[in-house]
Amino acid sequence: MNFEDFNTLLVQSIGNKTGATAPTITPSASFGYKDAKQAEDIFCGAQNLPLYARVGNPTNSKLESVITKMENGFGAIATSSGMGAISMVLNAILNTNDELLCIGGFFGGTYTLVNQTLKRFGIKNSFCKIDDFLHIENRLKSNIKIVLLESVGNPSLRLPDIEKIANLCKKYETLLIIDNTTTPLLVQPLNLGADIVIHSSTKNMSGHSAALGGIAVFREVDNQDDKLLNPKYKDLHPLIEKAGKKSLITICKKRSLRDIGMSANAFGSFLTLLGLETLALRVERVNKNVAIIAKELNSNMPKNITINHPSLSKSIDFENYNRFFKSGCGPIFTIDAQIQQKAFKLLDNLKLATQTANIGDNRTLALHMKSTIYRDFDDKSREFLGITDGLIRVSVGLENPQDIINDFLQAIND
Ligand SMILES: *Cc1c(COP(=O)(O)O)cnc(C)c1O
Repeated sequence: MNFEDFNTLLVQSIGNKTGATAPTITPSASFGYKDAKQAEDIFCGAQNLPLYARVGNPTNSKLESVITKMENGFGAIATSSGMGAISMVLNAILNTNDELLCIGGFFGGTYTLVNQTLKRFGIKNSFCKIDDFLHIENRLKSNIKIVLLESVGNPSLRLPDIEKIANLCKKYETLLIIDNTTTPLLVQPLNLGADIVIHSSTKNMSGHSAALGGIAVFREVDNQDDKLLNPKYKDLHPLIEKAGKKSLITICKKRSLRDIGMSANAFGSFLTLLGLETLALRVERVNKNVAIIAKELNSNMPKNITINHPSLSKSIDFENYNRFFKSGCGPIFTIDAQIQQKAFKLLDNLKLATQTANIGDNRTLALHMKSTIYRDFDDKSREFLGITDGLIRVSVGLENPQDIINDFLQAIND
């Protein structure tokens, strides 16, 4: 699909042709059943009607159906936040003593989830570099249940060969989960062989920063021949026998959402739907802006400041950018000002960019990394994640790119 097709898909599937044209908000926490038989049918899944808002509501369902089409999936579950979606999936599948294989650097919250929270519950992890295929394959030989990967490293901007990693996961019958937050529409991980795609809809999907939200999108399960039938997933087999094609959704609902409650709320999902209508227009615009801004700043930088983006020919991922990310790799580029003091001065000189911890906003955002999101990380972790003393992450918005270029140039040269 290209941006043109996504424009049609998104506006047509979000709006209603009759009655209220905007999506309906159903804020009810509970739903009345017609009679006792219907209550039983809803609980056993024979009738697909709302049961109780912790496990779904009609506004979330609308959002889930649109994003399922957008990601070419089989079904989806909307959650309270991006971290909610990641926690839901990992908690549903992993048990104590299982090992999670993490490829590349992670968003701060995901990194602490696997290194601190899941560790407390006895879930082990190992980290591999995105292009160290030998190490990845070695780890996959040891009964790994989940491989977790971000479509684009944030803020490292490393670009993985997703298909190659998916093929390895297929060979070793291991679930591949991809966090596609920074590249909606630009990458479709399920088409490349991933099993579950996760988004923080707080970011690019909404664009307006008015709603915190997340979503997990699932592929169809084949209950005759599926990697989930590998003996290492044996505790899931009774659920797969009952749920068939929709097993991954049932597993997440029954083993996470129901018991932990990282559920999306109707008003949040409504706001996400409003943003989603214009996603294709915005993604196209933002990704053009990033390439223009990175190129222009790169050729005008003083010697001691560097601009990093995979579209620049000096980048180590320039080849992967041209092969796999032809329309862009998301809203982020980084500036390395070498020392923290210089980074702070540059940031405080900016007139247009907002200093905040978010990305994927309609406005341009900037943040010093080491003193904020990564302040509690030890030096070894920061080195692995590529967090240097002077690193600034910029998330480009919809503004006139020349205005953003001018703003950074005046801030740097002041
Ligand atoms: C923001 C972000 C998350 C977490 O999403 P929240 O909605 O803030 O919980 C996860 N992954 C990536 C890549 C993100 O940028």
